[in-house]
Amino acid sequence: MSEELEVLQKKLKKSNKARLELERTYEAQFISLSQFISRLSHICKGIDLELDNKLAKLRTFLNNNTDLEKIEPLLADINKLMHHHTIRVSNNMQMTQSSILSAGKKLQQIKGLPDDFRRELRGLLKEVNNPQESITAYIPFMDHLIKLYDQAHQFAESEASLNPSEGMAIQQSISQELLNTLSQIAFKGQQAKKIDVIREQLSHPVTAQTLVDTCVAVLKLIIEGIAQERESAQSFLLNLNQALSSVHDVVATSISGTKKAGSGKADINTRLKTNISQMEKELSQATDLDTLKIQINERLADIASAIAEKEALEQEEQAQLLQSLSKMQARLAELELEAEEYKKRLSEQQFKSLQDSLTKLPNRAAFDERIQLEFKRWQRYGKDLCLAVADIDLFKQINDQFGHLAGDKTLQVIGKAITYGLRETDFIARYGGEEFVFIFPETSAKELEIKLHSLKEKIKTIPFKFKDKSVNVSISIGLTQFKKGDQPNTAFERADKALYQAKNDGRDKVKLLK
Ligand code: GH3
Ligand code: MG
Ligand code: MG
Repeated sequence: MSEELEVLQKKLKKSNKARLELERTYEAQFISLSQFISRLSHICKGIDLELDNKLAKLRTFLNNNTDLEKIEPLLADINKLMHHHTIRVSNNMQMTQSSILSAGKKLQQIKGLPDDFRRELRGLLKEVNNPQESITAYIPFMDHLIKLYDQAHQFAESEASLNPSEGMAIQQSISQELLNTLSQIAFKGQQAKKIDVIREQLSHPVTAQTLVDTCVAVLKLIIEGIAQERESAQSFLLNLNQALSSVHDVVATSISGTKKAGSGKADINTRLKTNISQMEKELSQATDLDTLKIQINERLADIASAIAEKEALEQEEQAQLLQSLSKMQARLAELELEAEEYKKRLSEQQFKSLQDSLTKLPNRAAFDERIQLEFKRWQRYGKDLCLAVADIDLFKQINDQFGHLAGDKTLQVIGKAITYGLRETDFIARYGGEEFVFIFPETSAKELEIKLHSLKEKIKTIPFKFKDKSVNVSISIGLTQFKKGDQPNTAFERADKALYQAKNDGRDKVKLLK
């Protein structure tokens, strides 16, 4: 019996021990579960204030090993709150989905977006259309959509900046063209002053409205000039007409004078003839010498007076003729002077239309004429012919920093310097703006490269000083030689391309393009 009791006791002890161990395990598991729940509850913090409070309470209970019975009502509350929260989350998910979809659709309505961009947006919206497990699944979609919005904004911005600058470029090229044209017309006096003001305006960026106004103003000045020119031509013709009519008068008077004198002389001749024939008659019929003597004397006296009258008449006639002639001569001399003046003005105009008014170099029209000539010679004789285009580097900065007058002065100085070292047969023109063009007949590009390089270096050393600041100005040159199949324009384009390369290569360079 005692043995049995002993066995039982042992068993009891063992089971107690096992129970204690189990309890300890449970307790440990409970603690780790409580800790886990407590940590989990921390994660949910911030979703809902009420839920936060309840979870805090739960954490306290769990920390204090409170009875499950006591915890249960709290758990029921928490469950309810979590259920509500789940409904809310699902509503939020739907709202988020529809917001992303509607924002995406708005983006699709923007015009002018690239095809790649549209494809990407379509793909994103398709994905957003599929139901998601959690609200966080929408975060990458939102992120993607924001990026697409950003891209669309950039496209819009670059488009907006492209268009005005494209417009500005067109406006600038029109201004430049207008400036070039202006340098080919000779204006005088008041008009020249007005044109100077316009040239100054055109060398800065102008609005489309100003450009239109300027074109109208230039047209008016040209029309004014033409009207003045016509007026002066008219007055010249009027003078010519008057002079001719006065010459006509002089001739008419002298003719009528001669006629009158002629008839006076005929009368005297008749008188002389009558006297002589009367004398012959009296001689043949004479009987008495004394009477004859008296008669002959009377006749001779009349003959002498008739001759004297004739002489006087002739003298008067001559004097009249002389007077008329000298009057005519004076009028003709006047006219000649006027014609000379007019001729001078015409040739001046002709000369000025080939000369750039600022640099006094030949202008673009002169270049066009000369290149045709040299081109024909090149075709006929086949000797080397080169063309170079030079452009002042960053010239706009000079205008911007030191003003338009400083820019003009620079152009004049460089225009002069650029002709140094050129041969008689070489030709240089101001092509427009800050661009010069050279023609080198009977010269190869090989010979020119060194020459143009030293010209470029020479220009760089010109000591410009604006607003007390020393400034160095450099130029870039594009050079080419005429080759088989070339026309003046193809060679020019090649030289211009070479110039572009020189600019791209950092400016202050001479580039040869074969
Ligand atoms: P790059 O080195 O690329 O040639 O730069 P850049 O500044 O020289 O060239 P851009 O073509 O931008 O500017 C040329 C400027 O020359 C713009 C225009 O206002 C000015 N310009 C053109 N003709 C005249 C003129 O007769 N007098 C003055 N003062 N400026 C002129
Ligand atoms: Mg330039
Ligand atoms: Mg230029």
